[in-house]
Amino acid sequence: MRQVDLDSGRIEVRQADITTLQVDAIVTAANAQLVGGGGVDGAVHQAAGPRLLDACRKIGGCETGSAVITMGYDLQDRGVQYVIHAVGPIWRGGEQNEEALLAEAYAKSLELADTHECQSVAFPSISTGVYGFPVERAAPIAIAEFRKFLSAGPTHLRRIVASLFDTRSLAAFEQALDRQASDP
Ligand code: ADP
Repeated sequence: MRQVDLDSGRIEVRQADITTLQVDAIVTAANAQLVGGGGVDGAVHQAAGPRLLDACRKIGGCETGSAVITMGYDLQDRGVQYVIHAVGPIWRGGEQNEEALLAEAYAKSLELADTHECQSVAFPSISTGVYGFPVERAAPIAIAEFRKFLSAGPTHLRRIVASLFDTRSLAAFEQALDRQASDP
């Protein structure tokens, strides 16, 4: 695990199945229809139980570059109050505004966690699985959004965890955290 402590809170990068973490909110990488899928979204739906999909169906969908929030359902037994469904962009070569949309998906998720008074939130690497966004480009965007949010002023968030599944993603996030730690 790697971490950086800012005045306003901590950013952690670790290798973990996100559904096992003790945090107030878990972010999942959803699709725009919010119908559940494979990858991290499949694991989160499995852990939260069928009421999560019912809640997603009621919401109906979410734009790319945004996020919606639901209760954590079965995850609440373990203290995870909320699931935040973030819709990142599908990578189409980098000329379709993918980087800005990914940043917006992170920013909206952080905002939702904060407005629901979460002190801790865990993120997967949004868009870098089936959606094909290169993780070496995605990681610095994620870390920059975490830093920007914590430095922007009073927030409930004290702990932001990047939960990476595989060693390549872990290395990319660790490198981004190290590089940006020396930024002003
Ligand atoms: P997307 O469709 O946004 O690309 P994916 O779920 O396909 O989303 O992949 C996003 C990242 O989440 C990938 O790096 C994948 O390896 C990772 N991942 C899959 N399952 C889990 C899990 N249980 N916890 C954390 N990360 C996971």
